[in-house]
Amino acid sequence: MNETVKKEKIVEVVINEKGTALDRTFDYILPAELALKASAGKMALVPFGKSNKKREAFIMSVKNDAQKDIVLKEAADIFEPAMPITYAQLKTCEFLREEYFCTYSDAFSCVLPKFARKKGKEQYKTTISLSGKYKTKEEYLSDIKSNARSQRLAIELLGKDFQDLNEFKRINNISGDTIKKLQEKNLITLNKNEFYETHYGKNNIEKQSANILSDEQRNVLDEYYNCDKDKFLLHGITGSGKTEVYLNMIQDAIDKGKQALYLLPEIALTAQTVGRIKERFGDCAVIHSRLSEGERYYQYKRIASGEAKVTLGARSALFYPYKDLGIIVLDECHEESYKSTSSPRYDSIEVAEFLSELYGAKLVLGSATPLIESYYYAVCGKYKLLKLPNRIFNRALPNINIIDMRQELKSGNRSVFSSILENCIQNALDKSEQAIFFLNRRGMYTYVFCRKCGYSERCPSCDVALTYHSDVKKLMCHYCGYEKDLETHCPECGSDKIRHMGTGTQKIESEIANKFPYARIIRMDKDTTTTKYAFDEITDNFKNHKADILIGTQMVVKGFDFPLVSVVGVVLADMALNMPDIYSSFRAFCLAYQAAGRCGREKGGGDVIIQTYSPDHYVIKHIKNYDYESFYNDEIKYRKKLSYPPFSQMYGFYFFDENEEKAKNTAYEFAQSLIEKIKDEQCRLIKIYRPAKPEVSYINSKYIFHVIVKTSAEKNIKNTMKIVYNNIIHKNNIIAYMQKNSGV
Ligand SMILES: [Zn+2]
Ligand SMILES: [Zn+2]
Repeated sequence: MNETVKKEKIVEVVINEKGTALDRTFDYILPAELALKASAGKMALVPFGKSNKKREAFIMSVKNDAQKDIVLKEAADIFEPAMPITYAQLKTCEFLREEYFCTYSDAFSCVLPKFARKKGKEQYKTTISLSGKYKTKEEYLSDIKSNARSQRLAIELLGKDFQDLNEFKRINNISGDTIKKLQEKNLITLNKNEFYETHYGKNNIEKQSANILSDEQRNVLDEYYNCDKDKFLLHGITGSGKTEVYLNMIQDAIDKGKQALYLLPEIALTAQTVGRIKERFGDCAVIHSRLSEGERYYQYKRIASGEAKVTLGARSALFYPYKDLGIIVLDECHEESYKSTSSPRYDSIEVAEFLSELYGAKLVLGSATPLIESYYYAVCGKYKLLKLPNRIFNRALPNINIIDMRQELKSGNRSVFSSILENCIQNALDKSEQAIFFLNRRGMYTYVFCRKCGYSERCPSCDVALTYHSDVKKLMCHYCGYEKDLETHCPECGSDKIRHMGTGTQKIESEIANKFPYARIIRMDKDTTTTKYAFDEITDNFKNHKADILIGTQMVVKGFDFPLVSVVGVVLADMALNMPDIYSSFRAFCLAYQAAGRCGREKGGGDVIIQTYSPDHYVIKHIKNYDYESFYNDEIKYRKKLSYPPFSQMYGFYFFDENEEKAKNTAYEFAQSLIEKIKDEQCRLIKIYRPAKPEVSYINSKYIFHVIVKTSAEKNIKNTMKIVYNNIIHKNNIIAYMQKNSGV
């Protein structure tokens, strides 16, 4: 007989319920009959708390040793979840919790859709139709008593085609009992079908062959295939043919028997894009936030089984249960929508990096204007830099004209349009071409600037724009809380043309309408695109020349192709330049660049008019030549001088409460305990800013205070911050979140 003591198997689980007290793993002993059934990704039923009430839990791991030297309870049962949960998904949950200070519960809700978080069977949708027993409605009705009104109504409404049973019952107010009686008489047929995708049309459409590559594209692909790195940054100007390069890389992964994930900002997931991918690969799973539960279920299953080789999706597609991912493409990687704005407030690039390491998959980030952080990593060698510096077929880039609005003012033009912009628009309209006006709608911040010399008020220590708070009549720094009175005269040139500038987009809109009364104008922004497919509709209408002028915010610049557009006007670039945060220059460069990319895509050329009061700003100087690299070189100096990302991480801690004092005190308490705790830690760089009101400081009847911590990403510092943060939330019972490296 073997004398060694048989070791007991232990499962480490996370309870499938909310609550900070449950935000940890728990160990349970596996009784012999369950030991073989248990594995990570399955679920368990475990007795919990004093009452030993049984609760559902996710199995994170199966191991031989328990966490602590305590008496463990036994797991009661092991079962398969309704849908598979993969190892990568579990690891992603742990990553999100570590990196973004969220709870297990938040991480699980983010990674797993509802149907995968519960016990249960596969889901079907039942459809209903007439049974085909008779030819005419009269014959059917003759089988039903004349007083059975509900049954008669159902027969009247049904036809040969199947329709959704639940919907049919709900819309027509027909009971399950009625359906049952009709079924007993064999007058109807019920079918159980799996959920299916509806909106984006059929799969397995006829494949189109690959396009012929330019020399530049071929060179980039050669570099990619022959590189021993796994992470790439594809820096290619607008119209340089990046998509074709991605499609080749994706094909390569498929040829190796792997799956591919192609991420785009939600807004760029148009029918046009989806169509292009399906044409190339015959089929792809499409994931975005507006999927119905049924569609999501269907795609989840296809991805888990490996049937879907290519997944095209918005950021949430990162969390699907891929079998074997070979490549992740993250296109337009500079887009803000890659950062989640609800808990966990993750950064898709970081999650994609994590997944690429986990799967051993390639990661390809692509953009014409990559984040300063991404480009820095490419310069440092963390990513391999691939470049497409020219447009395909050498189509000319549109001319960028910088209009100095100070001169316009001098010459007596007080309107929001320079004479050049007005003339260009008129010319385009005369030639039956189209124009786009680009407004920075994020003008809820009021900055102060001089119309005469372009001077703008900035914080002396943070070097970010100050914003005007009308309630206290002061200028404030959004980071450090620095305050200053409003000047009556410009500190630079002494003129009295110092103004605060903020909203005003309404005014610009009505001025456009007044100036060009015969033009057909459509507007594209958050207000006009609330319905499910409104984007597609507006872009189609504009593309088909059903309007002459498109007025829009950031959304307009998201990679749509409008062949007839010959003029793009950026009404006031300064609005983006003077956003009160450290990313304002980057954002301004990016928006102007992308806006220019919407111009003259078919024929080449076209005019881009950028109006500004700060023509000497490095953003404006370099945008004129589409010179991202020079812009990067200037911007990285600014970041380095003030130790902003990528030379640090900016952690923002936000505290919410109906009671303003409580929110404020909690922020102070947090900052104070962090200062005390951090004393013991070794850290290269740390600055804890004074607690302050963020720009938007009152939401849903709650006051908000925040503390920004600029620090390195060292593990001990992160842990300390997390412990202090969790303690404060728990102790003060307050709503809070942490967001890294975000703008305002
Ligand atoms: Zn001035
Ligand atoms: Zn400051």
